[in-house]
Amino acid sequence: MSAMLILESDVLIVGAGAAGHSVAVALRALGFAGSVRIVQDEPHPPYNRTLVDKGILPGLLTVEQAALKDLTPLDIDLVRGRGIVVDETRPATRLQDGRALTSRALLLAMGSSPRPLPGGAGPGVFSLHRADDAMRIRDHLGDDPAGRAVTVLGAGLVGSEVASYFAAAGAGVQLVARSDVPLTRVLGRPIATQLRDLHAAHVDIHFGRAVTALLPSASHTGVRLDDGSELRSDLVIVAQGAVPDTSRTTVTTRRRARISMTRSSCCPTSPTSMPTPTTRTAGCATRRCSKRSTSTRTTTCASATALHTTD
Ligand SMILES: Cc1cc2nc3c(=O)[nH]c(=O)nc-3n(C[C@H](O)[C@H](O)[C@H](O)COP(=O)(O)OP(=O)(O)OC[C@H]3O[C@@H](n4cnc5c(N)ncnc54)[C@H](O)[C@@H]3O)c2cc1C
Repeated sequence: MSAMLILESDVLIVGAGAAGHSVAVALRALGFAGSVRIVQDEPHPPYNRTLVDKGILPGLLTVEQAALKDLTPLDIDLVRGRGIVVDETRPATRLQDGRALTSRALLLAMGSSPRPLPGGAGPGVFSLHRADDAMRIRDHLGDDPAGRAVTVLGAGLVGSEVASYFAAAGAGVQLVARSDVPLTRVLGRPIATQLRDLHAAHVDIHFGRAVTALLPSASHTGVRLDDGSELRSDLVIVAQGAVPDTSRTTVTTRRRARISMTRSSCCPTSPTSMPTPTTRTAGCATRRCSKRSTSTRTTTCASATALHTTD
């Protein structure tokens, strides 16, 4: 039997999304000279997830063109694999292929996963979270969505952006949301109402409605709404928010801790000045992610005003 491969580093980051990637870059910017390793389960270089619906889905960018800053010149080791057991008490991470990663400090930056549709998925039903999701949708619809029928479940930011992209591209769009005026909590009632009216001018809105069943068939994908109506389309995109992505990983914790971006606690300048062992969480792996920050809200408003501006 072969010996288990153990990779050691001063800092190990699980997840190379915006949070994990930016912490790694910040460590170097602050002069940290110890070894830094990131484990990432997506098969691409770290990329900007905000471009999944704005760049990759419309075919404007490849995933390579949406990449975040290259980590190689910073001497940060990127390991492909999924951490299936993360033990912050040691701290250590075991990968699906059996490799073990140990470290003096561990950062959990595992992000979020799309909120699943109650009742499960079905053929022709897609979420839109990863670059690969956008490419699967493009494969399903073809490069030109004009004349195709698309149902979008959820009129939050991602659902709104997706609906407006497909409408501008000439697809017939059904946009479904539970709320009568989606995004009221994020944008405030006056702007959310304007956005609803903007949607109504370009897509078929079904607001204040919930999906009660998926109705897949050989030729199309359908959904039934709680008023009994049925919507038929070439595909359904589920954009009903995200939940912290801890379901695929067993995490043994002493306590949940939020990252604190201070030089002394999070970004020690040398391996020897690090509190040992230490574990932090960052990004959507924290509970805080569900509450939007002011900066996110600014982006949100910018995205909202950019909707349906092509005509
Ligand atoms: C389509 C879309 C558009 C968006 N647009 C905007 C926008 O315009 N403005 C804005 O402010 N925000 C936007 N967001 C939200 C923004 O992308 C997230 O807030 C941000 O990506 C969170 O970063 P993160 O690093 O916490 O998590 P993530 O980006 O989810 O990254 C976590 C990474 O960790 C990996 N991972 C998880 N578990 C493991 C494991 N056990 N082992 C190894 N790897 C693992 C995941 O595969 C993932 O690659 C958008 C999100 C989506 C989905």
